[in-house]
Amino acid sequence: RVDDRAQMLYWSGHLLDEIERLPLSRPQTSNRGEMHWVQSERGLWAMTRWDDGYYIFGLDLAAILIDLKGDARTQVPLNAELQMFLLGPGEAFPESYLDDRVLMPWLSDWSVVAVIRDPQAMAREQSRNRLQRILIIAFAIMVMVVGAIFSTRLISRELDVARMKTDFAANVSHELRSPITQIRLKAESLLFGLADTPEELDAHYQVILRESERLSRLVDNVLDYSAIDRGSKQYVLRPGDLADTVHRAVDNIQTSYEVREMDVEVNVPFDLPVVHHDADAITQCLINLISNAAKYSSATGSRWIGVLGRVVEGGVEIAVSDRGIGIAADDIKRIFEPFYRSRDANARRQKGTGIGLTITRYIMDAHGGSISVQSRPGKGSTFTLRFPLQPPGQ
Ligand code: ADP
Repeated sequence: RVDDRAQMLYWSGHLLDEIERLPLSRPQTSNRGEMHWVQSERGLWAMTRWDDGYYIFGLDLAAILIDLKGDARTQVPLNAELQMFLLGPGEAFPESYLDDRVLMPWLSDWSVVAVIRDPQAMAREQSRNRLQRILIIAFAIMVMVVGAIFSTRLISRELDVARMKTDFAANVSHELRSPITQIRLKAESLLFGLADTPEELDAHYQVILRESERLSRLVDNVLDYSAIDRGSKQYVLRPGDLADTVHRAVDNIQTSYEVREMDVEVNVPFDLPVVHHDADAITQCLINLISNAAKYSSATGSRWIGVLGRVVEGGVEIAVSDRGIGIAADDIKRIFEPFYRSRDANARRQKGTGIGLTITRYIMDAHGGSISVQSRPGKGSTFTLRFPLQPPGQ
């Protein structure tokens, strides 16, 4: 590039003006002639007298720097300050020179040498650059990893919801078909006189009763869930006797086939404070909780269900406890989600649709209250409904 530069600058009139202004003050002599040179802001200027006249050389510092920068070995930062030297015949190269070029083929004993002005600053700059590059790469990798994790989670969540909806449709169809079939079979048996003894007749009536109860509870829940999902479900909250509502709900569910075998211990004082509530909706919550307690106790053989009412700070709590199969910690986080059913094999053996607790939570939200659960697998569960003393919005 020295040659090109020299070609370009040679005969270039305005550069001669610049040369004239420079203090060309360092004459050096070699066996081939005399060389004057100086370093300016822009580069290195050199002038020599040769056989047929004067030759001027200009070396562009920025161009040389870019040239060096392209050389992976030297890795000079673009803003490094370079110093150029013209070394004459026999002169020693500076210790930490970066690169050197012969000035002109016919001036082979003259070299241009580039030296970094402050090598330590350059080393610092280089390590800063390296660190910057590492940080940028690490950040890019982190963004990619986080993105990948996030989208995998999103996709698996979506797939989960889609699978749960399919399960729900299958469960509802099954839950509808099985009681209808049973009811029809038993009704036909009665109609055609296939049951003879009073015990047989009684067993047939029992099945019809049990299955129609299950059917009507399922239909209530599905209709309620679809109204909630559409956003059209409304509750009418009136100041009322919560203890009375709870006792009535327990009496109601206790006669059902599912809970009849269970021993429901009710401990709800009749002097609970007045609570704004929708009695039908709260009855539905309690029926869901108590029938779940019965359903998920059958595998353990426990027949106990506890219903406890008490006043707590700022509210009233109604808790439904059982000594059934309990709920794994992973499932506890999700059982209130629509259609979610525990993965536990014992729980799976019980029929269900996974919307009972979703509806219960929705109803409690509408009351300005909450539902919480405490459970230990194999030991049992307690679901607690909490009502505020002040009606919601006041
Ligand atoms: P379903 O009982 O129809 O499956 P729910 O919404 O009522 O739906 O309950 C969701 C899940 O929570 C159930 O599938 C079950 O795994 C778990 N669960 C609810 N109540 C109990 C309980 N008392 N004991 C153990 N598991 C329960």
